[in-house]
Amino acid sequence: MILLDGKAVAKDRRAKIKSEVDSFKSKFGKAPGLAVVLVGDDPASQVYVGSKEKACAKAGILSQRFDIDKTQNVEELDSLLNHLNADQDVHAVLVQIPIPKPFEYRSVLELLDPRKDVDGLTYDSMGRLWSGHKSVAPCTPRGVMEILKYYDINVAGKKAVVVGRSNIVGKPMAQLLMDENATVTVCHSKTPSLEEYTREADIVAVAAGKPRMFGKEDFKKDAVVIDVGIHRLDSGKLCGDVRFEELGGHASAATPAPGGVGPMTIAMLLQNTLDLATAIETRKLK
Ligand code: NAD
Repeated sequence: MILLDGKAVAKDRRAKIKSEVDSFKSKFGKAPGLAVVLVGDDPASQVYVGSKEKACAKAGILSQRFDIDKTQNVEELDSLLNHLNADQDVHAVLVQIPIPKPFEYRSVLELLDPRKDVDGLTYDSMGRLWSGHKSVAPCTPRGVMEILKYYDINVAGKKAVVVGRSNIVGKPMAQLLMDENATVTVCHSKTPSLEEYTREADIVAVAAGKPRMFGKEDFKKDAVVIDVGIHRLDSGKLCGDVRFEELGGHASAATPAPGGVGPMTIAMLLQNTLDLATAIETRKLK
């Protein structure tokens, strides 16, 4: 079984992004700029935001962090987004989810300038993705596609099953696989006899958010298994949606969790920031 080592792929991609950021700086006289907005004080979000900021610094991307206290008025977030939309040094905006009530992510999707939508989640970005005119794709499924490409796994003509239909993972994952000419089935929590679908698939991307739910018996021999899930168990150990240790000698290739899709999500955040910044600065030259 080929270990799809997301950590190694992410390292490779991040080195390339760093050199592309250097070229961007020489060409446009400024760094690509990412604004990271954290609403509330969710401890997991603090950790995620911290690692995203560190990754930006290493790549030469200028990240600025904006904190909104959960006791502030919802209008404060709206006015921050309006400010970031207009800021010439901000090319990309990330609002860390989940955001606490009464704040609503929907207002982010409605207010954020799609040209700065680094997560690819605004209605404009999603519509572009589905209509074949994408600007940037959401970071996690884009990272999965990069892993498949890196390991030369051909998707065209294959039967792919995506488990999960969230806007941030499942739906865009299905679209990106379809763009590469896979025949895609999307399964979800209301799919009866889920294993009948997963056992038929050449490629299975699992994003159900259920710790260690899937094992060897859920996949056909020589399937490619991508585990998007990530969970911290009570023991403190991290695991995915798949019992990875069962796959040796059965799957043809699989991502571990941790160390598979997760590192690629951060690498693709950097790539998406660079892509948006390049598009914005190039438009200014015209
Ligand atoms: P979500 O909760 O929004 O969506 C889960 C999806 O799985 C839903 O569409 C639901 O219908 C489906 N589902 C739930 N239970 C199911 C079941 N028993 N059988 C079949 N389908 C089922 O979650 P999400 O944001 O899409 O994330 C999914 C997982 O991926 C989570 O574990 C999350 O932590 C992880 N994740 C990882 C990364 C990363 O960078 N590695 C990024 C995003 C999400």
